[in-house]
Amino acid sequence: MKKATNHTQPDSCPCGNNASYEACCKRWHHGSERLNAPDAPTLMRSRYTAFVLNELAYLLETWHPDTRPTHLEPNAPGVKWLGLQLRNHTQQDTTHATVEFVARSRLNGQANRLHEVSRFIRENGQWFYVDGDFVQKPSNNR
Ligand SMILES: [Zn+2]
Repeated sequence: MKKATNHTQPDSCPCGNNASYEACCKRWHHGSERLNAPDAPTLMRSRYTAFVLNELAYLLETWHPDTRPTHLEPNAPGVKWLGLQLRNHTQQDTTHATVEFVARSRLNGQANRLHEVSRFIRENGQWFYVDGDFVQKPSNNR
């Protein structure tokens, strides 16, 4: 019997890479390479995917201890994550980087757009998210 399904869209990782989750962000979430994302953009992607998949332990462990929340809530039921766009990556030195990104989601028909410049720091070989600044559009309030 011929397979009827011929999806043009492969089963790609939530972070937007064409590779599957197994071949992409999963290795940073679970297994022997866990917490070993090699640079800030990779950590950013893996954290976005962790938000999508409610990998809360990973989010906490990649949050710098100085700014880490005590706990995280899972996604509200019905939240749909629409995608991540990395806009900019600046490496200040071997242990400091910033990543600008836009993450889109939708809840109950309401679109949500998070545009942030995030700071990352590397300590003992591991990259951590520190904090971020929202990027506001000057006059367009949509
Ligand atoms: Zn990924």
